[in-house]
Amino acid sequence: MAELLPTSIQLEVVTPDRQVVHESVDAVTVPGKRGYLGILPGHAPLLSELAPGEIVYSSGASKRHLAVSWGFAEVLPDRVIVLAQTAELAEEIDLKRAEAALTRAEGRLKKVGDSSIDPQRAQEAYQRALARLQCARRKDV
Ligand code: ATP
Repeated sequence: MAELLPTSIQLEVVTPDRQVVHESVDAVTVPGKRGYLGILPGHAPLLSELAPGEIVYSSGASKRHLAVSWGFAEVLPDRVIVLAQTAELAEEIDLKRAEAALTRAEGRLKKVGDSSIDPQRAQEAYQRALARLQCARRKDV
């Protein structure tokens, strides 16, 4: 007898501090290190490192966005588990704080070459702030 394919995905997003998402969804997109991964029920198993960016997930007509900084995603046919260093739903993001972080990071990136500046750290802070700003500016429905 043919095995039935799953029709939904159980999405879990957790950080060291809290569980951010625990929901059954129709589709999810995660920011993988080598590009965005679109996942539908029945996806082949894989493990991916995450890059700073947005997780987008939908159930029926509703679509939600959250910003993640770094972590790992495990994809199974009926489950996606994201272990993230930080994760904020779009509506939780403090826009002013992210703008200030972006301005700070841009200032540091302009001073790359100074012995006081760690270029990789500045670049990572820039990417985190950019991901938060992009995510906060979306409208979840
Ligand atoms: P900042 O310099 O503003 O602290 P950061 O990128 O260094 O930014 P992180 O170390 O990635 O901050 O995150 C520290 C904590 O603050 C995490 O719990 C994260 O979810 C939260 N956080 C960071 N920036 C924001 C923001 N703009 N809005 C809401 N929560 C945020």
